[in-house]
Amino acid sequence: MSLLQIQKDYSALQQLGYKLDLTRGKPSSQQLDLSVELLDLPGRSDFFADDKTDTRNYGGLQGLPEARRLFTNLLGAPQEQIVIGNNASLALMHDHVAFALLKGTCDSSEPWSKQGEIAFLCPVPGYDRHFKICEDYGIRMIPIRLQEDGPDMDEVERLVASDSSIKGMWCIPKYSNPTGTVYSDSVVERLAGMKTAANDFRIFWDNAYGVHHLTEEKISIANILERCAAKGNPNRAFVFASTSKITFAGAGLSAVAASKENIQWLLTRLTPRTIGPDKINQLRHVRFLKDEVGIAALMEKHRQLLAPKFQAVLDVFEAELSNLKDVSWTTPKGGYFISLDVASGCAKRVVALAKDAGVVLTPAGATHPYGKDPEDRTIRIAPSFPGLAEVQQAAKAVALCVRLAAEEKLQSK
Ligand code: PMP
Repeated sequence: MSLLQIQKDYSALQQLGYKLDLTRGKPSSQQLDLSVELLDLPGRSDFFADDKTDTRNYGGLQGLPEARRLFTNLLGAPQEQIVIGNNASLALMHDHVAFALLKGTCDSSEPWSKQGEIAFLCPVPGYDRHFKICEDYGIRMIPIRLQEDGPDMDEVERLVASDSSIKGMWCIPKYSNPTGTVYSDSVVERLAGMKTAANDFRIFWDNAYGVHHLTEEKISIANILERCAAKGNPNRAFVFASTSKITFAGAGLSAVAASKENIQWLLTRLTPRTIGPDKINQLRHVRFLKDEVGIAALMEKHRQLLAPKFQAVLDVFEAELSNLKDVSWTTPKGGYFISLDVASGCAKRVVALAKDAGVVLTPAGATHPYGKDPEDRTIRIAPSFPGLAEVQQAAKAVALCVRLAAEEKLQSK
């Protein structure tokens, strides 16, 4: 199709006056409705935990045992090695970084902030809010290429072996944000066993999408805590998860699992910070979700709502973009995102064109440290929030913008 024709189609698109938003991976209100029963729990008469704790009162720093039990499968750890947080796992991750900076980890000789400039390894494309934590605290970010089966481990091993300023690494091991990547057993094994120059190195294992399958294939991956322990590095990983995309994104539970020593360290850090978490929310989640089987049943309902939206985007991309050179996209088996790679140097242009046609996309670059995608290629697509018809319209609009940007680039050569 000629540039002129694509421009005409684009003008027609602009005339439609769309107001569509594919930016953040938020659950739709239909998904939130699946957990509306939570709003009636625990009710006025029975707000006591199994051990008769009155959940309305102070205390219970580590979280109710039954709430910790709820997370054992998702985090892959016994309840003694789990701490329940409030509504955001991001806040837990942030606090772990801040605590390590101010006080050091249980293996640090000094706080991270007293050890000169420190750095984190950041698999890319990745999650902008992980990168924001590092940026805000002046932690240097080192991008690592995310491959089909996880981060480029040759590069990771090479860097951590020689550079003791590398203190951490972000990992989204399953249905990664935004590519849907699943880490292979061999990647997990190498992360667990690699030699690190820093003896207080930590992996931030963000299992945000552990039960968020989009297909019938319910993928499970190697247990990082077990593998680290087996390799003689028991304190290496902090494992995070939350119910943000299981129940309510703004009012769920978060949790972290780690070695006994790490958990003791965390509880010591939390002691001056709070007298205890929101145990009423813990109790209502236990009563609503019940157990691993209850969680799986609810996630199946989410899948019924989400999978058609993902399929709609993939169908449109296949129909409209498959013959375009240098354009590709991921086909995730879970999670909340599709990652679209356009021709080099075109991502910003596509996002700007989409905006002018009423479709808001995550800013180009957000998937990379400092918001800078050196190739200007990657665009994160989040189809969960709008209705199915809107997702389809938005995908068609994005595809047209990709074609227009590609044709413009070709003509400018
Ligand atoms: N980690 C990842 C990888 C995410 O995609 C998100 C949500 N977009 C979060 C963490 C945020 O989780 P929470 O709501 O528990 O803070």
